[in-house]
Amino acid sequence: MPESDPIVGIDLGTTNSLVAYADPARGLSPCILPDAEGRPLLPSVVRYSAEGRTESIGHDAREHAADFPQRTIASIKRLMGRSRRDAAADLPYLSYEVIEGPNATARVRLPGGHVLSPQEVSAAILSALRERASRALGCKVRRAVITVPAYFDDAQRQATRDAARIAGLEAVRIVNEPTAAALAYGIGLTTKKPETVAVFDLGGGTFDLSILSVIPAEGADADFFQVLSTAGDTHLGGDDIDQMLVQHLLPTEQAHAPSMTASELQNLRAQAERAKIILSDHDSTEIAFIQGGAERRRTITREQLESFLSSWIDRAIDCCRRALRDAKLAPTDISKVIMVGGSTRIPLVRRRVGEFFGTMPYTALDPDQVVALGAAVQASIMAGLRGDALLLDVIPLSLGIETVGGAVAKIIVRNTTVPARATEMFSTSVDGQTSIKLHVLQGEREMASDCRSLGVFHLRGIPPMPAGIPQLQVEFLIDASGVLTVSAIERRSGKRADLQVVPNHGLTAEEVDRMERDSLTHAREDMTRHRIVDLIANSRLDVKWIRDRLDKLGDAIPPDYAAQLRSRLDALAALIAAAERDWTTVDPNAFHAAKESLDRESVRLHEISIAESLRRGPAGSSPPG
Ligand code: AMP
Repeated sequence: MPESDPIVGIDLGTTNSLVAYADPARGLSPCILPDAEGRPLLPSVVRYSAEGRTESIGHDAREHAADFPQRTIASIKRLMGRSRRDAAADLPYLSYEVIEGPNATARVRLPGGHVLSPQEVSAAILSALRERASRALGCKVRRAVITVPAYFDDAQRQATRDAARIAGLEAVRIVNEPTAAALAYGIGLTTKKPETVAVFDLGGGTFDLSILSVIPAEGADADFFQVLSTAGDTHLGGDDIDQMLVQHLLPTEQAHAPSMTASELQNLRAQAERAKIILSDHDSTEIAFIQGGAERRRTITREQLESFLSSWIDRAIDCCRRALRDAKLAPTDISKVIMVGGSTRIPLVRRRVGEFFGTMPYTALDPDQVVALGAAVQASIMAGLRGDALLLDVIPLSLGIETVGGAVAKIIVRNTTVPARATEMFSTSVDGQTSIKLHVLQGEREMASDCRSLGVFHLRGIPPMPAGIPQLQVEFLIDASGVLTVSAIERRSGKRADLQVVPNHGLTAEEVDRMERDSLTHAREDMTRHRIVDLIANSRLDVKWIRDRLDKLGDAIPPDYAAQLRSRLDALAALIAAAERDWTTVDPNAFHAAKESLDRESVRLHEISIAESLRRGPAGSSPPG
């Protein structure tokens, strides 16, 4: 239950808006408040009737924007607090009429002649968010922290306050978006020495780079962030990539095909965006689209996409250079880089930003949500709730990865002080495995299903090798802000992949206590189960290897020895099968003894195998690893 008269955090965005709340009952971890259908984002789009009545806000208004272009108002943030002349460069991108109002301010004129101020349109969006928050929290919401871009001037900030007032909300604080992003990561709350951070915000249509100086102080908040410089491009974003993909697909097609209708083109643009998003996680994808009534299919690879993106990313990196120059800093002066905006999910963007600043950027929090989450952190400070609640000097629960059979290998144990680093070596359990799934877990229990899942990632492109041969090095690195980076490198092939998460996100003190209590209650049972799961995995490898050798070596093995080995093999295989059916029916000591006995018995087989392979030449055999 929230406190009465809660303060929420609002990210009032150009394309999408969100509302978040840091609930004291949930350890003050900020959470996005979704709509009744569970959707976190509210498209910042309002449709009016010709007479100025609000017809629709959000998803529905955006979906039908093409049907009512002149009375569907999107990107209103571009007009907030600006004169029509100042906004002139943006007007070609807007589908509705913008006129000059009192004091030369920009106003929206609907087809019926009704005139709206940008504040009124923003107020409609804020009202929808206020209602959403009231429904989610079960109480009236009257106060909010609202974020604005760092470059917003006084008029734009005042317009944002006015919009809040029209929506029945008191804007208790207007916070810069990059500052909010930093607060979401606890920067400024856990900072012990002054540092300089960069916030790289690349969305659908705009790019901003802000450089912030953070000065630690008791009970710090947004007051302790100073914006040193900002640079950006109001027309650089993911939409450009969609357009580049469309251009790439069209010319070759158009040479021998009829031109496309408007709706076919719109569909192609949507397919291009979908393909772009898929290519952030996959190496290639297929785009299917209709051209002149005929269906066409084209495959596009990540490599191709990256070749188009290179000069597009150069533009963003140039802005980074400019901002650094203005702040009289070098890339190496930046201690952390925070990623904001949907387009920062593109691996090439992450790579290039990492290379430029010489540090792995922060990607643990959802880049669409990080600003709203930070606004909620600021709201909890304003409400006097926080104290030093977020200061985390130790890892409250162990961190590890899932191993074969669903057991957990703990890599950093609970109560380790941060920052901390630990590595462990693993290998594969199946021959020819070219991809390894890494499941990162938190908790004290022995089985993955009893722990909290922090995320999954894949290490792909490993050359096929026998089970046990790949050398997988997994590193856990948790920095002073509590951000965990898990990286996996297959040392033979050099392939690597990583994942970032915030382990304490959404975790309450009670949950930590419960997870610790559960681990004590289940300690004996869990240990037995973990032991059996490991025995299954290891015995499987033994059984497979010995069976293979028996088949391959055939007559080279004395028949009575082969028979003896087979009987031990069958006994162990029966135990594996029984343990897989129901682990509680198997005595781990008997299982262990059966494995040991087979291992002892198979020493001679190893010797025969080596002798045979020497006799037959190098292609003969491979060890089990
Ligand atoms: P924003 O304005 O921050 O909501 O960012 C929206 C932009 O991010 C759009 O251009 C989306 O197509 C893009 N986007 C969202 N998710 C991904 C993804 N996984 N990979 C690449 N682009 C994405």
